[in-house]
Amino acid sequence: MTTVPALAELNFVVIPLLSTSHLIPLADMAKLLAQQGVTVTLVTTALNAARFTAAIDRAIRSGLVIRVVELQFKGKEAGLPEGCENHNDVPGLNYRRQFFAAIDMLQEQTEKLLEDMKPKPSCIISDAYVAWTADTADRFQIPRIVFDGMSCFNQMCKYNMYILKDQNKIPESGTFVIPDLPDRIEVTKAQLPPHFNPAGTVVIQDIRDKIRAAEKRAYGVVINTFEELEQRYVDKFRRLKDGRVWCIGPLSLCNNDNLDKVQRGNKGSFDKEDILKKWLDSWEPETVVYACFGSLGRITVVQFVELALGLEASGCPFILVIKTGEGQAPIEEWISKNGFEERTKERGLLIRGWSPQVVILSHPAVGGFLTHCGWNSTVEGISAGVPLITWPLFAEQFLNEKLLEHVLNIAVGVGSQAIVHLGEEEKFGAQVSNNAVTDAIKKVMDKEKEGKKIRKRARELGEMAKRAVEDGGSSHLNVMLLIKEIQEFQLNQSAKTALV
Ligand code: UDP
Repeated sequence: MTTVPALAELNFVVIPLLSTSHLIPLADMAKLLAQQGVTVTLVTTALNAARFTAAIDRAIRSGLVIRVVELQFKGKEAGLPEGCENHNDVPGLNYRRQFFAAIDMLQEQTEKLLEDMKPKPSCIISDAYVAWTADTADRFQIPRIVFDGMSCFNQMCKYNMYILKDQNKIPESGTFVIPDLPDRIEVTKAQLPPHFNPAGTVVIQDIRDKIRAAEKRAYGVVINTFEELEQRYVDKFRRLKDGRVWCIGPLSLCNNDNLDKVQRGNKGSFDKEDILKKWLDSWEPETVVYACFGSLGRITVVQFVELALGLEASGCPFILVIKTGEGQAPIEEWISKNGFEERTKERGLLIRGWSPQVVILSHPAVGGFLTHCGWNSTVEGISAGVPLITWPLFAEQFLNEKLLEHVLNIAVGVGSQAIVHLGEEEKFGAQVSNNAVTDAIKKVMDKEKEGKKIRKRARELGEMAKRAVEDGGSSHLNVMLLIKEIQEFQLNQSAKTALV
């Protein structure tokens, strides 16, 4: 007789894309699943594991069963520079093809590992951008659940825009309405992600097509969202996927330990926690603007100047995150020549490098988040109950802005008009003026008028987000349903084998 497998006998194999903003939510997801009692195997490479092993080790010490498997990354064989194991470190667009070739080379090693794994793999939670896991799942006869790090709103926009694209109906210029959505969403082609609005250089359409084909074969989808945030879009997407959509976010909320929050995404690179806390504690509630463009987004010095001057003229205290490394020298040069840092030091804090974003967002002093609208940042802002000032840059970020501004009504945009494709930043001048930045900040931070309504709504959504992940909340229920689905799948498989 076959029996329902016990939770500890279930092994969820999590395979993230080696890119910072994909590793972060999937490392969170590993913890979240393990908290329910299943075994989780997180597959990555040594340099990437170093980003989250401290947090995972703490989780293991607390009794969770998580294993981190480190594969050998063959970047050099694929033509990548030494030490380049993460999408964020790929030097320019010209190397993207090589990066995906190196990702493909991980398949053989992974399959060898899965063969001897105990407990046997029950399913693969795969990043949607790791296409070969579709074949691996078939080979091991286990479900492949994909994660592409975006919202149900975005999934439905994409689905309907593919229909338009196949019919050649996306206009080259001017606005158009994305069909068949619960809300009227107007966009221009220039605001669309590369699938519909390809970058000028280094076309990787074949890789995109392979990823999309693999996505269609997936057993189901997990989403870093919560149902209450976008219920009508969740319902639509679920119908499209025969019910197999699990909304289990906001994933960042699984980090209760302060160290987990501080080190999230980049272990130990932030060592000024005390200074930051004191600085934030010194401001009245909801007065500080936090500005950060995620892990990948870069802006040119021309655009940075507008951002910096706009922040300054808003009169608000602010934290501005500035990237370090290649290409940042002109920005640093402007900062020192212009005297911006010195001039604003009484109310401005510049963080160079990695900032502990979820720690900052959850501090009561923070009253606005100027964001590039990456989905992780978007959900983190929503979870903190903070209204947003939106400045989308690339990928699906303009669509996220539409959701925030026109559906959820918790944001004001700075008025950027077109995608600045990754790696093509220099092709675009300043799209946004400092006046537009100041105006948007003032509207959001205003304690009366429009700002008051936006703030109230953002606070309500923040409360809903927290309730969703609590026992009995919608996301908690979705995690349990996902596990039950895999349990039943395994039971059915065993029953079939027993009959043969
Ligand atoms: N992040 C952070 N500190 C930084 C920059 C980014 O903690 O200085 C985190 C942020 O909290 C989010 C992720 O990196 O979890 C960025 O993901 P998102 O989807 O917002 O943007 P992307 O990096 O993909 O553009």
